[in-house]
Amino acid sequence: MAVIHAQNLHLAYDRREIVHDLTLTLPEGQITVIVGANGCGKSTVLRGLSRLMTPRRGSVVLDGKDIHTLRGKDLARRLGLLPQSPLAPDGVTVRELIARGRFPHQGLLAQWGEEDERAVQEALAATRTDELQDRPVAELSGGQRQRVWIAMALAQQTEVLLLDEPTTFLDLTHQLDVLDVVRDLNRERGTTVGIVLHDLNLAARYADHLVAVKDGRIHAEGPPADVITQQMVHDVFALESRIVPDVVTGTPMVLPRGREVAPDNTPDATPEEYALSTLTAAPAAPTAELVPALEHSAMLAFEPTVIAKQQLGQSLVRFTFSSADLAHFGTNSHPLDLRIKMIIPGPEASADHFASVRPGAVLDPATHAEWYRTWLQIDPRDRGWLRTYTVRDLRAAGHPGNLGADPEIDVDFVLHLDPEQTPGSGVAARWADAAQVGDTLCLLGPNKHLVGPDYGGIEFRPGTARTVLLVGDETAVPAIGSILESLPASISGHALIEVPDASDQQRILTRSGVQVRWLPRGDRPHGELLGVEVERLMSENAQAFRPADGTGDQAGGVTDVMDVTDLEDIDVDQNILWETTTGHGAFYAWLAGEAGVIKSLRRHLVTELGLDRRQVSFMGYWRQGRPEH
Ligand SMILES: Cc1cc2nc3c(=O)[nH]c(=O)nc-3n(C[C@H](O)[C@H](O)[C@H](O)COP(=O)(O)OP(=O)(O)OC[C@H]3O[C@@H](n4cnc5c(N)ncnc54)[C@H](O)[C@@H]3O)c2cc1C
Repeated sequence: MAVIHAQNLHLAYDRREIVHDLTLTLPEGQITVIVGANGCGKSTVLRGLSRLMTPRRGSVVLDGKDIHTLRGKDLARRLGLLPQSPLAPDGVTVRELIARGRFPHQGLLAQWGEEDERAVQEALAATRTDELQDRPVAELSGGQRQRVWIAMALAQQTEVLLLDEPTTFLDLTHQLDVLDVVRDLNRERGTTVGIVLHDLNLAARYADHLVAVKDGRIHAEGPPADVITQQMVHDVFALESRIVPDVVTGTPMVLPRGREVAPDNTPDATPEEYALSTLTAAPAAPTAELVPALEHSAMLAFEPTVIAKQQLGQSLVRFTFSSADLAHFGTNSHPLDLRIKMIIPGPEASADHFASVRPGAVLDPATHAEWYRTWLQIDPRDRGWLRTYTVRDLRAAGHPGNLGADPEIDVDFVLHLDPEQTPGSGVAARWADAAQVGDTLCLLGPNKHLVGPDYGGIEFRPGTARTVLLVGDETAVPAIGSILESLPASISGHALIEVPDASDQQRILTRSGVQVRWLPRGDRPHGELLGVEVERLMSENAQAFRPADGTGDQAGGVTDVMDVTDLEDIDVDQNILWETTTGHGAFYAWLAGEAGVIKSLRRHLVTELGLDRRQVSFMGYWRQGRPEH
C-alpha cells in the first residue's frame, strides 16, 4: 500500500493558475473521490498528483519521495493514471492494449515473462474482458472500451491508481460496472485509489474519503456523510438540494431542487418521502457548462507556421513548423511514438472547424465526443482533408537545436506529384510542393496535459529481439529514421528502404548495428525491390530468425496466434492492414508502407517462411490508387 500526498501545490495552464496552494493526502488503501463543479480544477488536481503536470510551486510525495525525482518507469510501476478519453493506437486489440500496462515492468529488450502473462490474465478476468481480448479496441462500445482501459491500468499493478472521470459518456449500468471493478481492486489488493467523478451520488456511494473542490481549493473533505450537506452542495455546485439517505446503500443522496426554488430549512427527507417526491418532481433542465479544451480533449488542434522548408531529395521535403500553442503538444514520451494528423485546407474553407479544440478554447463535453464524426460530415472542400504523419523531431523552446522562443517540430512530406489532378486526391503532396515559409497548417495532435507515454504511434516493440528487420517505402522513411535514431547499440540487423530516386537517400544516424540499405526504385514497380531484398535476406537467415521454442507457443507474446492466413484475406482496398505485436524470440520485423506491398511481404514472412506472427508488425501506411479518405 502507498500513500500519496500533495503539499502546497500550485498548478497552472499557461499563465492561468487553476489549483491554488492545495494540500491533500489520498489515504492509504482507501478510495478517495474528488468532486466539484465543471472547471473547478478537480481533473487538474489529479494530473498534478500523477506528474502529468509540473507544479508551479509545491510538491507531490509518494511514500516520502517527491514524484518529480523518480524515474519515469519507477513511477509508472507504482502509480497508474487513466486519463479522460484516452486514445488507443490504430488497430490495437484488447489484449495488446492491456499488455501495454506491463511496459513499465519491462526494459526495451526485457523478456515477456510469466508474471506479465499472469497480470494480463488477472486484469482480463477482473474486468470481464476475456471474451473481448482479440477484438480491435476501436470496435468496442464505450462501456467495454472503458473496462479495457481499466484492465490496462490493473495489469500495471500499481499501488496507487488515479482515474479521471472514468464513467463519462457511459450509461448508468456501465458506470456502476466500472466503479464496481475499481472497488473490487481496492478491497482485494489494497490499492490506493483517487477518482474524479462528476456525479455526486455515485461519489457518495463509492468514496471512503470525499474531497469537494471549489475554484482550485479544497472546500470540504472527509467521509461522504460528513461532506455532503445542503450547504456544501450550495457552496460548491451553486445548487439548492435536499439530502436523503440512498435507499440502496444508505449513503447520502443529493436531490436537486432546481435553481428557481429558494433554499429552505426543511430537514433531510426519509427514503419513503424521497420515493414519493420522484413521482411528482419535474425533470431538471440540462445545464450545458463549457470546460477548457486543455483540460478535456486528449487531441488538440494547433496552428503552426512553416519556419523552414528543406528539400531532402527528389521525393521528400522537410518542414519545420513552430508556434506558441505547441507548448501544449506532446505525449510525455520519446518522439518515436509521435504520430499526428495534418489538415490540408480545402479551397472553400468557411470557418475554423476545430475552434472548440484549440488550446485556448472551451468546449461542451456533451457534444465533444462526436467532434470527429461531425467534422467528417462537412463538405471536404470546406473542412479540408486529414492526413497522417510521423513527427520527425520535436524541439521544445530552450532545446539546444531551437533558437526560437516557441517549440518546433519537423515533419517530412512525400512529394508524389501526380500530373493528373483529381479533386481531393494528392492534396498533401500538392500542399507540400507549393508551401512557403510563413504558411500555416492545422495540426491535430496529442494534448500533453492529458496524454501519457502510451500514446500510440510507430509501435516499434522488439521485445527480446536483438536482430531486427525494418522495411519500408518513402512514406515510412520518417518512421524508420526515428526508430533507427533511438535504437541502442545492442541491436543489429537490417533496414531496407525503397525510395523513388537515388537522391532520396538520407544520412540516418544510429548507434545500433543495423545496416541501412537504400533501394532506389527508378522505373521498377513499387515494392519490387523490397520483395527481392527481403527474400534474399531471409533466405540467408530465416532458420536463425525462428523463435527458439518454435512457433505457436502462446505463452510469451502479446498477440494471440490465430489462423496465420486471416490477415491475407483482408481486402486492403477496404480495410487497413495493421498488426503490431511485441516481439517474440530473437528476431523482430517491422514493415510499413504501401498496403499491397506490405501484404505480400507479410505472406512471404509468415505463410511461406513460417515466422511466428508475433515476430512481425505490419502497417499499411497508404494504398496505391486510393486517397487516404
Ligand atoms: C502512421 C502513418 C504515418 C505516416 N507518416 C507519413 C509521413 O511522415 N510523411 C508522409 O509523407 N506520409 C506519411 N503517411 C502517409 C500519408 O498520410 C499519405 O502519404 C497521404 O495519404 C498522402 O496524402 P496525399 O493527400 O498527398 O495523397 P492521397 O490523397 O492520400 O492519395 C492520392 C493518390 O496518391 C497515391 N499516394 C498516396 N501516398 C503516396 C505515396 N507516398 N507515394 C506514391 N503515391 C501515393 C494514392 O495511392 C492515391 O492514388 C503516414 C501514414 C500513416 C498511416
